[in-house]
Amino acid sequence: MGWVHRRRDLGGLIFIDLRDRYGMTQVVVNPAQAEAFEKAERIRSEFVLAVTGTVRVRPGETRNSNINTGDVEVAVTEIRLLNPAKVSPVQVSDYQNVEEGLRLQHRYVDLRRPSMTQNIILRHKITKAVRDYMDGQNFLEVETPTLVSSTPEGARDYLVPSRVHPGSVYALPQSPQIFKQLLMVSGMDRYFQIARCYRDEDLRADRQPEFTQIDMEMSFCGQDDVLGVVEGMLAHVFRTVMDVEIETPFLRMPYHEAAELYGSDKPDLRYDMRFHNVEEFLSDTEFKVFKSALENGQSIRAMVLPGQALTSRKIQTELDETAKGHGLGGLFFVGRNEDGSLKSSILKHVGEEKLLALLTAVKAQDNDLVLISAGEKKLLQAGLGKLRVDLAKKYDLADKNKFSLHWVVDFPLFAYNEETGAIEPEHHPFTSPHPDDVEYLDSDPLKARAAAYDLVLNGNEAASGSVRIFQRELQEKVLGCIGLTLEDARAKFGFLLDAFEYGAPPHAGIALGLDRLVAICAGQDSIREVIAFPKNASAYCPMTHAPVVPSQEQLDILHLKVEHPASE
Ligand code: ASP
Repeated sequence: MGWVHRRRDLGGLIFIDLRDRYGMTQVVVNPAQAEAFEKAERIRSEFVLAVTGTVRVRPGETRNSNINTGDVEVAVTEIRLLNPAKVSPVQVSDYQNVEEGLRLQHRYVDLRRPSMTQNIILRHKITKAVRDYMDGQNFLEVETPTLVSSTPEGARDYLVPSRVHPGSVYALPQSPQIFKQLLMVSGMDRYFQIARCYRDEDLRADRQPEFTQIDMEMSFCGQDDVLGVVEGMLAHVFRTVMDVEIETPFLRMPYHEAAELYGSDKPDLRYDMRFHNVEEFLSDTEFKVFKSALENGQSIRAMVLPGQALTSRKIQTELDETAKGHGLGGLFFVGRNEDGSLKSSILKHVGEEKLLALLTAVKAQDNDLVLISAGEKKLLQAGLGKLRVDLAKKYDLADKNKFSLHWVVDFPLFAYNEETGAIEPEHHPFTSPHPDDVEYLDSDPLKARAAAYDLVLNGNEAASGSVRIFQRELQEKVLGCIGLTLEDARAKFGFLLDAFEYGAPPHAGIALGLDRLVAICAGQDSIREVIAFPKNASAYCPMTHAPVVPSQEQLDILHLKVEHPASE
């Protein structure tokens, strides 16, 4: 039984490729089987059939070694048409790139496409490998509630109004964070969950309002234990599902180093292009840009773009514009002419000797192009970091077959929000300060590092976690740093603060984004390709039309009244 993938009429015989989740089988209908033949003449793609017949080896020249059922076929004696099918805008057998809205609207057909079916199967296998590994490591899978009071992870909450408590709402969890910590207080010791999380964040191309985490927490543990479990789990997943050996332990890079060398807290290390401080080669030039930058305490950094020494002026101008779009003052280039001689707009000002020394210092090969920029250190790093990502994309520098995994550790505990002037947790407010930095909570909170870590996979933030606070006093202090009065803190998180006083063990944990992990393993750019029924980029489901306008009756039951914004 299955779906008609394709029907071909050939020299009196009708061939049907019958498809199901497991693959494709060739079915042959001979006119001698009159009843079956007559039915076969009328079927079209995506009709649902049951066929009866004899499995036989295909004649030699018609064997197809490209598919695993290519040596056999079914000679049909009977066909039952279980259900006809309309022609869908999403063609399974002859897929043309259709607009994503249509794919999502007809997702049930879209998922029949073998590549999509494979993505869903891969997701299952990865999830199962995770469960197997965690079970083997003595972790308990525990479900935590999804109708909760707010669990803050820095996004807005999705709210669910209560019927029985008029005027009150539940929040959908942004993560199981608080509950998994409470499970540690309960003595559960090692918890994990494949957990759905909900975050109402500003729309971005590849963001989903609900997504899935591999969430875990461990007691009597610190950072090393958590990183070790994740490394072991991923090695197991890659080995069993992808047949890929990844090297463990992963590199650990302090946050400040990631910023200094790559201008990012999630640098893709499949390509180098690190930043080099080249101030010593440019410090005594009269060239105004460098001179005034250094006089004003700014920085100068260089980055090596492999293989592009001969780029045309036109392309250099384009790169310069991209750089300016990222807030950089502009770029200077050191490349080569066809004859190998130096080509650079700063050659005159800096001189050949210094430039050659600079090229050696940044380890540029003869065919590399060196990009130099000056500016205020943080802006320079951030701008070059974005440019680095753009260049890698433009010149295809990342090896698509490679999985590059490393940790970024020692994040700052807090971040300063330029817009609101508020101090916010860089991770979440339950993250412990770095043991050496607790004193800064009183003197200069923004200086404190966190005992927090991120996992970076091919330039994506694949996981985020931290050692937790487990003492009431310290938790109250950190909540104070982010502007909560003691009263607010107790009103919001009193249950957690109380729990800390009933024997809370030291604990730590992490959560990995399952959707992105699967997408990367599947070689897909978008996480929507590995989610069975995703929302589109504006958090809307073209199939079910969610979110929908509630009926008056539903509103009444929930004691709700809707006021539409004036613009609508
Ligand atoms: N709850 C955190 C998050 O969702 C992960 C963790 O700290 O374990 O990012």
